[in-house]
Amino acid sequence: MTNPLVGCRICDNNSLAPVLSLGNLPLANGLLTADQLAAPEPRFPLDVVLCPNCSLVQITETVPPELLFSNYPYFSSFSDTMLSHSRSLAEVLIRERELAGKSLVVELASNDGYLLQYFKQAGIPVLGIEPAANIARVAEAKGIPTLNEFFDDRLAERLCQQGKQADVIIANNVLAHVARLHEFVEGVQLLLKSDGLAVFESAYVRETVDRGEFDQIYHEHLCYYSLTALTHLFARHRLQVVDAEEVTIHGGSIRVFVQHAGQGRPQARLAKILEREREWGVDTLASYAQFAKNMAAKRDALLKLLHELKAANKRIAAYGASAKGAIMLNAFGIGPELVEYVVDRSPHKQGLYMPGVHLPIYSPEYLLTDKPDYALMLAWNFKNEVMEQMNAYRQVGGKFIIPIPTLEIV
Ligand SMILES: [Zn+2]
Repeated sequence: MTNPLVGCRICDNNSLAPVLSLGNLPLANGLLTADQLAAPEPRFPLDVVLCPNCSLVQITETVPPELLFSNYPYFSSFSDTMLSHSRSLAEVLIRERELAGKSLVVELASNDGYLLQYFKQAGIPVLGIEPAANIARVAEAKGIPTLNEFFDDRLAERLCQQGKQADVIIANNVLAHVARLHEFVEGVQLLLKSDGLAVFESAYVRETVDRGEFDQIYHEHLCYYSLTALTHLFARHRLQVVDAEEVTIHGGSIRVFVQHAGQGRPQARLAKILEREREWGVDTLASYAQFAKNMAAKRDALLKLLHELKAANKRIAAYGASAKGAIMLNAFGIGPELVEYVVDRSPHKQGLYMPGVHLPIYSPEYLLTDKPDYALMLAWNFKNEVMEQMNAYRQVGGKFIIPIPTLEIV
């Protein structure tokens, strides 16, 4: 049913080095209805490997995209942090690229239009491409023109034939998900105007490793990028990275700016980031060995704490029914004997159950009425935002357990 990796997703090298194994896990976004709890859930290996040739870190299994994305429960617009991050990116691009009524901004995996809305408000034509049917419908209802398709070179060709080429293409948190990577990047090369700019944002593998963010690893995330790996990828498609910067969203991401080869002049900071990656050892296995050790240490410390709290008759819930949360619960084996339920702000998740461990999902208000002693912060990457929203819970004596990057109780 799945396709085990035969060669590196960027450079086809077939001698890949093992980094970490999380075991056989259910799909992290596969929230279950009450009716589905009795049926067996599909599980797939979650093994991470490094390509020493191009430095791409990747998982070995490709779960068919149809299984992953047809009804995807993540709605970007529900996170304030995400919205303000998106708005400032839109403002910078509108100003620096001098976008206007004749421009076209295309977003790949445009979700519910959370980002394109800021261009639309400024009178700039937009087009979203979103493979999840339920989310594409939400975007359309909000007035964001959206194609419900997977993006690749064939779709790009079709758009070109309709006279559509983009001044700006944005693909945030999508490169990691793309199973047919080369068809996708070739599509960007075709769809981008000769003087256009493409912006890609992805979780930054150096941060993922240094901060021990193993819960970034799930079946949807096929690849874990460094600037070095991205440079290799784009060069294969006559594209050139002209600038890059580190951004703090999602626990540390890298944003790269790409133009057609020979178009832009590379910024000085690009070379600096590449140099730092070389010093860090982006293509050597030793740099990643710590990752597996670090994860085991985090698991041991968190389980010890949860067992001690249970032994002291404390009640524990969790916050954040995200993919990250599902990975942490399942990879660490934290089930109903330790945590009673999960709360989440998205009404689309409430009433469902977490994959694998089958914890029920309620609304955050439930923490205020039920008053468990502790809430395990699974959405630790939005920690500040959540703690602010849940101030009332802390005022009635509730405490948060923050598991990553350092285990602490606040
Ligand atoms: Zn490679």
